[in-house]
Amino acid sequence: MAAQIINGFELAKEKRTQLAKEVEQLKQQGIEPALAVILVGDHPASQSYVKAKQKACEEIGIRSILLTFPSDISEEFLLEQIARLNEDRSVHGILVQLPLPKQMNELHIIEAIAPEKDVDGFHPLNIGRMMTGQKTFLPCTPYGILYMVQSLQVDIAGKHVVVVGRSNIVGKPVGQLFLREHATVTYCHSRTNDLAAITRQADILIVAVGKPKLITSPYVKEGAIVIDVGVNRLESGKLCGDVDFDDVKEVASYITPVPKGVGPMTITMLLHNTIQAARELHK
Ligand code: NDP
Repeated sequence: MAAQIINGFELAKEKRTQLAKEVEQLKQQGIEPALAVILVGDHPASQSYVKAKQKACEEIGIRSILLTFPSDISEEFLLEQIARLNEDRSVHGILVQLPLPKQMNELHIIEAIAPEKDVDGFHPLNIGRMMTGQKTFLPCTPYGILYMVQSLQVDIAGKHVVVVGRSNIVGKPVGQLFLREHATVTYCHSRTNDLAAITRQADILIVAVGKPKLITSPYVKEGAIVIDVGVNRLESGKLCGDVDFDDVKEVASYITPVPKGVGPMTITMLLHNTIQAARELHK
């Protein structure tokens, strides 16, 4: 039987309705949640991601502030802008759209963001808090993935979660979040030997690689839950995930599509974190 599709778009819509109510409540207390987004350069994908984040903020009543700078600014200048936003009490969340131009050290920039305004959840302090089970901002894509799997009402404890990809923003933290939920977690990456032998053991398979249709049905156990994080633009202009959707849906129990899968949940969790930041900063 073909897999059921996890509709990230619909889940995101439901969650955003609830978040809009939370924004309304904060406004009644005189707090207007605000997110500052910094975009450096004119990378087309980054521009479209930033636009989508701004639109999502506006739809639920979060004030969005966009700061755009040319790609040749210095790291020092960018650090000054971040310091100014850190001090600004009317700004609750700060997000620097990645990737940054080559002359900048991304880690320096992320570490300059005040941890209490780091709504992307990339600051090392917040990552450390996540790994030690403390309350913090959870990174948006991993958090969105966990939310999607939890929405299926399956028991995550004891399940074998295989994560393909070990980036700092998706692969590594998503494995940690499932570990917190008592899953048994295995990480795979470009040096993994016999990838299919490992992915075939997964009850929950999370793929964050950036290679179109890398995962086909021989990589997937019958009945597995498959979460496709990849966003790849084909020559035709169409978007495609890292999973061969039509092939894998014949063996999986649940599968996320691309688009309308993980993407909308990522932005929703950014909204969630911004509201959390506004609430905490005004305590
Ligand atoms: P990175 O390029 O930072 O990481 C890719 C990972 O995949 C690396 O760990 C790499 O291994 C691994 N890898 C590469 N080739 C293979 C292979 N043949 N077999 C197994 N592993 C492999 O990517 P990101 O984590 O930033 O993003 C991954 C994908 O997710 C991209 O398509 C990106 O666009 C998408 N994305 C989607 C988001 C959303 O909201 N939907 C949000 C963020 C990302 P190694 O470490 O050994 O090099």
